[in-house]
Amino acid sequence: MYLALALSFAHVIALGPSFVNHPLTQLIWGALWVTTAGLVLAYRVGLPLVRTLRHQLVVSEVHEEGPDVVSVILRGRRLDRLAVSGGQFFEWRFLTPSMWWQAHPFSLSARPRPPYLRLTVKGVGDFSSALRHLRPGTRVAIEGPYGAFTAEARARAKAVLIAGGIGVTAVRALLEDLPPKSDPVVVLRASSEDDLVLADEVAELARQRKGRVHELVGSRSMVKIERLDELVPDLHQRDVFVAGPDAFVHRVVAWVRRLGVPDGAIHYEVYAL
Ligand SMILES: Cc1cc2nc3c(=O)[nH]c(=O)nc-3n(C[C@H](O)[C@H](O)[C@H](O)COP(=O)(O)OP(=O)(O)OC[C@H]3O[C@@H](n4cnc5c(N)ncnc54)[C@H](O)[C@@H]3O)c2cc1C
Repeated sequence: MYLALALSFAHVIALGPSFVNHPLTQLIWGALWVTTAGLVLAYRVGLPLVRTLRHQLVVSEVHEEGPDVVSVILRGRRLDRLAVSGGQFFEWRFLTPSMWWQAHPFSLSARPRPPYLRLTVKGVGDFSSALRHLRPGTRVAIEGPYGAFTAEARARAKAVLIAGGIGVTAVRALLEDLPPKSDPVVVLRASSEDDLVLADEVAELARQRKGRVHELVGSRSMVKIERLDELVPDLHQRDVFVAGPDAFVHRVVAWVRRLGVPDGAIHYEVYAL
């Protein structure tokens, strides 16, 4: 893509009727492109490189959380200086011979505990399934943090956090950032008990904040997420945070809009590429 853009830029400058014999236009257009290229280089290459070198992340251990789900614990330096909120994600690049060339987004599944970071991953394709075979000591490059699915986005005093399947990762980390006594309601949706990963941690964090957790387990025909307002009667007065697969998030968001929750109080992270 970058090569195509560079070639198209060279093409219009050399042959475009608006540019040939128009030095001022060439100068302005050239300056815009060079500035854009500089920003891309700085933020997509320079900053990730600086952060990767500063924090020197390596895989410390990989452990099973549930069927096809593993947590990858990373160890790094100066993680107290990594500005990241619960609910944000990084693009992760694991520097092994077969994986170094691709980066994938995964949310942190807990706030950093220096010297450790944790991500929790469901194996759905080649890359995510390969993470269970990572060896301790594997180096990791990062780009980020990204994302506005954070406690700072709240517009109201109370929140309901809704996780579909592996969407529990962002919800679990965001919950850690909610203040004590904030009375959060957390909804964990999964198709079976085994798929309810990190549920104990979520329950403990909710309890510490005087909140509660609802686990909705079963097939889609058995569990109607649209009945949730019966469990959470003040739902329309809360911020609504939703994370998980594409179809789940869009269904929940459409439904809470129908309940009258304004767009400013609806926050979501879609786990789709
Ligand atoms: C912001 C963000 C945060 C995320 N956080 C997490 C997280 O914390 N934990 C986590 O487990 N995941 C998370 N994800 C999802 C994760 O990034 C992807 O599951 C992962 O990158 C998939 O890569 P893969 O190579 O393993 O799978 P892929 O090969 O890319 O396949 C992914 C899925 O899509 C299907 N698929 C692939 N190609 C097609 C096609 N052409 N047509 C139809 N279906 C297709 C596959 O069958 C599979 O089900 C997050 C995603 C985003 C965007």
